[in-house]
Amino acid sequence: MDLYSFIRDVPDFPKPGIVFKDITPLLGDPKAFAHAIDEMAQMIEAHDVQRIVGIESRGFLFGAPIAVKLGLGFTPVRKPRKLPWRTRSVDYDLEYGTDTLEIHEDGVQHGERVAILDDLLATGGTAKAATVLIQGLGATIAGCFFAVELGFLPGRERLKDHFVDSLIHYG
Ligand code: AMP
Repeated sequence: MDLYSFIRDVPDFPKPGIVFKDITPLLGDPKAFAHAIDEMAQMIEAHDVQRIVGIESRGFLFGAPIAVKLGLGFTPVRKPRKLPWRTRSVDYDLEYGTDTLEIHEDGVQHGERVAILDDLLATGGTAKAATVLIQGLGATIAGCFFAVELGFLPGRERLKDHFVDSLIHYG
């Protein structure tokens, strides 16, 4: 199945010069979405994973169904002040300014092998921040997995200490 045809390019969103990879056509097609989840679950299954961590918010859309399919628990990594229990935070650099991600202190266990899920790998800053949170709680990164990867940006270089795989690759 050609999943590329379910990714829509939206030029100049959310700001001029960015081509936004819109995954909503993929989510909206039951066969394409199921196929993407099946393929990503297979990709992850080979890595002896014990937990899925999804990054807010589009990482939840892929991470949660993959966790159910693989019979694993799901842990959300969220923007600040969204998680109700005790949290760990990490600040990371954006093109302009900084942002913060949080995880519950009991979101991953010491020694657990965790797969990080997000919809898209661009510069890798977001996923890298998630690896710092997870490793800070003593868990191990089994890999970082994405539905879409922008290969012309330095995401893989940023995540070079970890296994990285993606389903739909540009550039
Ligand atoms: P980065 O930290 O640069 O790897 O950016 C990854 C995050 O930003 C992901 O959560 C994506 O949802 C979002 N993102 C960055 N660039 C794009 C893009 N061109 N199209 C769609 N989403 C993007």
